[in-house]
Amino acid sequence: MTLAHRLATARADVTLIEAGPSLGGLAGAWQLDGLTWDRFYHVILQSDVALRSLLAELGLEHDVRWVRAKTGFYTDGRLHSMSNVIEFARFAPLGAWDKLRLAATILRTVHLRDWRRLEDVTVADWLVRLSGERTFAKIWRPLLCAKLGELYRDTSAAFIWAVIARMYAARRSGLKTEMFGYVPGGYAHILGRFEEHLREQGVHIVCGCPVASVGRGAQRRVRMTWQDGRADEFDRAVITAPAPVAAAMCTELEEPERACLRNVTYLGVICASVVLDRPLAGYYITNITDDGLPFTAVIEMTALVNRAEFGGRTLVYLPKYLPTDDPAFALPDEQIETAFMAGLERMYPAFSRRSVRCLRIARARYVLPLPQLGYSRRMPPRVTSQPGLYVVNAAQIVNGTLNVNQTVELANAAAAALAAQAGVDPFLGAPVA
Ligand SMILES: Cc1cc2nc3c(=O)[nH]c(=O)nc-3n(C[C@H](O)[C@H](O)[C@H](O)COP(=O)(O)OP(=O)(O)OC[C@H]3O[C@@H](n4cnc5c(N)ncnc54)[C@H](O)[C@@H]3O)c2cc1C
Repeated sequence: MTLAHRLATARADVTLIEAGPSLGGLAGAWQLDGLTWDRFYHVILQSDVALRSLLAELGLEHDVRWVRAKTGFYTDGRLHSMSNVIEFARFAPLGAWDKLRLAATILRTVHLRDWRRLEDVTVADWLVRLSGERTFAKIWRPLLCAKLGELYRDTSAAFIWAVIARMYAARRSGLKTEMFGYVPGGYAHILGRFEEHLREQGVHIVCGCPVASVGRGAQRRVRMTWQDGRADEFDRAVITAPAPVAAAMCTELEEPERACLRNVTYLGVICASVVLDRPLAGYYITNITDDGLPFTAVIEMTALVNRAEFGGRTLVYLPKYLPTDDPAFALPDEQIETAFMAGLERMYPAFSRRSVRCLRIARARYVLPLPQLGYSRRMPPRVTSQPGLYVVNAAQIVNGTLNVNQTVELANAAAAALAAQAGVDPFLGAPVA
């Protein structure tokens, strides 16, 4: 959407094609017990400069509500608050020396000038070296497994650099508690306004229309074939679907290019949205370091979003991050629900299944392209061998954690490069010197 917006500003004639019934992809919304809210949990950080500036263009920046959110840890069978330095100092599961090393690890990582040095070290080696075996086993390994599963073993230390840098940037105020933001109405509201804006700019939006293949058309044009067999031609096309999907779609690219796209390892997610009658524990995010729970964190959205938005109810997300080909993606909803309910009962003795008003399970196989060792040297390029065909997606975020801000940055940069070829400024629509 950002790319379409920038290119339309640069006076290109843009068609935006989406497979799903509505725009938004992973940031899209759905219905829960009469509520409309994000299918996957989303927050905005104060350091999300590109996103905030896009929201300003849409007239929404002043609507963002900033909230001091609490963070919890579920460790050794109980919940611990970990929202500020004092609580960190009191965190009983780690000794004083381990805590010092943990704090030093965070500072050392965040102040590292050149993240590229970390690309050739595994995240496990880096964290053991800085924090020690004990803290790695107690805190880092469970957190890495929670986010990456066993794939953490192949992930480079650039990943933890990006995670820490993003969270550290969010903790620059007051008692160093995190300030998280959201727009009332959630992403549904942002996307609705954005879609309206795109239509005003003359962008032609086509939803519910999966592209089956992209190949060469007449006179160096790009030919798109839809799943129903119809076809259309465009001067240029930018594919923003995940890299393996782009590989399958772009059938006329050279084999090494398709292999480069296909070989990006993605992490997927199964995520339950649960609407409850009453709050759970009041932490926006609870990191889980104990083994044996069916989900990898608990996100209590209403610790951030005013409960009045949800008619006084509580909205909780239970994510489980998995490799794209994990058989759990095929499990029926009921089986996931049963396991997740048992997980909540174990963590929160006061939780009762009777308080559940609604539960829906979302699945996404392509969420986070993993920064594996040396990733930036083999990531898929934006320009392809087919004239007029470009690929722009999260697989080109080399030092990030995947968030809307970085997606917007990526689109801004891609629009600038594409518009430069046409001699216009994508932000102003004016000719460039
Ligand atoms: C569980 C979870 C939590 C998150 N939390 C946050 C957060 O707190 N803060 C934050 O900023 N970000 C968060 N994100 C990340 C954010 O949602 C993504 O960074 C962003 O939405 C990625 O956008 P994208 O356009 O690159 O990819 P996608 O959203 O994946 O978009 C790709 C689009 O391509 C379409 N497509 C695929 N194949 C075809 C085809 N054949 N034809 C036509 N269209 C096709 C898809 O339908 C989709 O709409 C979270 C994501 C998840 C999953």
